[in-house]
Amino acid sequence: MSRFFSKAHSALAPYVPGEQPQDKKYIKLNTNESPYPPSPGVAKAVEQESHRLNLYSDPECRALREALATLLGVGPDMLLLSNGSDELLYLAFLAFGDADHPFVFPNITYGFYPVFCQLAHIPYRELPLRPDFTLDLADYLAPGRNIVLANPNAPTGIALSPGQIEPLLQNHPDSVVIVDEAYVDFGAESCIPLTKRYDNLLVVRTFSKSRSMAGARLGFGIGHPALIADLNTIKYSINPYNVNRLTLAAGLAAVAEDSYYRKCCEAIAQTRDATAKALSEMGFTVLPSKANFVFARHPAIAGEALYAQLRQRGVLIRHLSRPEIAAFNRITIGAPEQMDVFLRLTKEILQGREPL
Ligand SMILES: *Cc1c(COP(=O)(O)O)cnc(C)c1O
Repeated sequence: MSRFFSKAHSALAPYVPGEQPQDKKYIKLNTNESPYPPSPGVAKAVEQESHRLNLYSDPECRALREALATLLGVGPDMLLLSNGSDELLYLAFLAFGDADHPFVFPNITYGFYPVFCQLAHIPYRELPLRPDFTLDLADYLAPGRNIVLANPNAPTGIALSPGQIEPLLQNHPDSVVIVDEAYVDFGAESCIPLTKRYDNLLVVRTFSKSRSMAGARLGFGIGHPALIADLNTIKYSINPYNVNRLTLAAGLAAVAEDSYYRKCCEAIAQTRDATAKALSEMGFTVLPSKANFVFARHPAIAGEALYAQLRQRGVLIRHLSRPEIAAFNRITIGAPEQMDVFLRLTKEILQGREPL
């Protein structure tokens, strides 16, 4: 830390992204990226757009917003595009949180939520999940607090239905409920239809996972036009050109080829269910996942040891050190061939081990 660093941030513990090592080629099952490339039209669209990089991007992202609005069946004024959904989440925390409007979220969820609260000096509370890692909605009914839920949750993969989330919207007319649907395309049900009936719901989506575009950095929010207007006030106070030209072009091509992604998501969901079954047969406890990853633990090996041994053998999975989940690993679903290697090596590592 330099002596110039603002005292306001000196205690900040930043988010730690999954490792992206460059030393050798790994089978990467650690950051929930798609094993499949973007749809065929994306590369061409990016190449063509690259000739116009002398010009700023459209701050209103009109073309992509309209295409997405049509795809999702909402008004273009209910949409805001962002530089990854992380940025959209940050805009939302800044827009709706302050000392009188704290946030609540589960103790085991996406690690960025507490970081945003700390950065923006918003008070927050982490509400414990049940021992089986499901969420007790009754914990969230007390009014006066904004809520953020990842649905499906990360890193557990467990999903709620819109019918379960709706009472939270009814019970919090004066607070915002943010539903982060980064993984919804892999088998859960979206809350987007509820945005037409509840002016306090913001749904957050990303092109990073189900649309194979993690490197392009494209996310979006869907909500009542007044919520979107608030987010725009914050966006235009930070970075009007938050989505660059190449990413806008890539997004537009991706939306035009929507069926390609639905096929990819179906393939990933199938591989996930096969992987979960194979892991259960090896003695793992696997949480019921609707995402593009599984969260699993084995009685004969600590989470960190399995992570380390797989890493030595060229396979990366994600281990999170938080004590409640230290026995687990989060395993991104890759292509079937990658999962075969992962399963074979895991079996090898477990050979002859007794329960700890
Ligand atoms: C990956 C992820 C995001 C962020 O994705 P972006 O790449 O910034 O769009 C947001 N929420 C959850 C729960 C995630 O897992």
